[in-house]
Amino acid sequence: MAGPSHRRNSVGVDIGGIVVGGGHPIVVQSMTNTDTADIEATFRQVAALARAGSELVRITVDRDEAAAAVPHIRDRLDRAGITVPLIGDFHYIGHKLLTDHPACAEALAKYRINPGNVGFKAKRDTQFATLIELAMRWNKPVRIGVNWGSLDEELLTRLMDENAQSANPVTAAAVQREAIIQSAIGSAERAEELGLGRDRIILSTKVSDVQHLIAVYQDLAARCDYALHLGLTEAGMGTKGVVASSAALGILLQQGIGDTVRISLTPEPGGDRTTEVRVAQELLQTMGFRQFIPVVAACPGCGRTTSSTFQTLAKEIQDHLSASMPEWKERYPGVEAMSVAVMGCIVNGPGESKHANIGISLPGTGETPAAPVFVDGKKVATLRGADVADQFKQMVADYIEKNYGKSETMAAQ
Ligand code: SF4
Repeated sequence: MAGPSHRRNSVGVDIGGIVVGGGHPIVVQSMTNTDTADIEATFRQVAALARAGSELVRITVDRDEAAAAVPHIRDRLDRAGITVPLIGDFHYIGHKLLTDHPACAEALAKYRINPGNVGFKAKRDTQFATLIELAMRWNKPVRIGVNWGSLDEELLTRLMDENAQSANPVTAAAVQREAIIQSAIGSAERAEELGLGRDRIILSTKVSDVQHLIAVYQDLAARCDYALHLGLTEAGMGTKGVVASSAALGILLQQGIGDTVRISLTPEPGGDRTTEVRVAQELLQTMGFRQFIPVVAACPGCGRTTSSTFQTLAKEIQDHLSASMPEWKERYPGVEAMSVAVMGCIVNGPGESKHANIGISLPGTGETPAAPVFVDGKKVATLRGADVADQFKQMVADYIEKNYGKSETMAAQ
């Protein structure tokens, strides 16, 4: 039977009301790239990410000014009615920042800790312990996020030495993966020894190579039941980042691995940060895990239709649906499951349109200038004239109102 493997059992972790793991829907998260000390810019970007559908947003907390800004950003969001939980991303001095800025510690819903960057030698253990004690004091969960760009050097060196002396040495990459996993699980176990509940710990082991990412998460998933955050680090820019992230995360999700995802895209200069949210949503939706927005199926076009009408119409409808979803979530519950088809000619047009909730088959080259429209598998109209696109958009609007509008249901209650 088609479908993903059974979801791996993991312990659910509540992050400001959003539960990651424990069988809950896979959560979409994102990260800002503003200077957190700039309250206004960070507030605006968090708001945009939340509006795009990010269910958790991570912000950098790298210095006193950033830590001091966090409660003000939280306050701005609350006043704007934006409830998205904020996660603080800490490196090197997280123990100090959370100690010196209790309002920051309180305003954040989760602390991200990188065990490779907590401190060095003797200080590492005490600073890690301080971070865990602060998490317990403020009743916050943590993500222990190992990243192979900042892997614990002592651990890696020890494992490399052991491997060199082994009768059956493995590759350097395999040792590196083992070091990443041991760093993550070892740190989580240390946090539990210090008193942090298992339901307060999420793990991630990010690398930038697709095959290594798949291998490391498969191994990690088999060796623990902590909730897992998936992400390909440094995925890159544009289609490269989208494809690499989708390939890696898609395979893991299909295997039942992963409780929350973040797509680490490098935006084009001046680009839109919310793209990473849309990519995460589309990945989860196309694989059938979640539904966020109505799907518009459009054919790729070919020599049978030289007209770009169907491309323009498909884009207009997709843009309209995307822009309307924040409002429609309240007004038209269930609309995110709707499917729309916009097809270029008679070859696949009627067939594909019949499978959608509402679909149109535009005329290809040499066909009669008429566009049949199908609603729930039945042909209901044939559109003609220069304003076919507008007529179809109106039919989509009517379909949504009729099938997802609350007013009639509420009036009948
Ligand atoms: S539906 Fe028609 S126009 Fe579209 S790709 Fe298929 S044959 Fe080409």
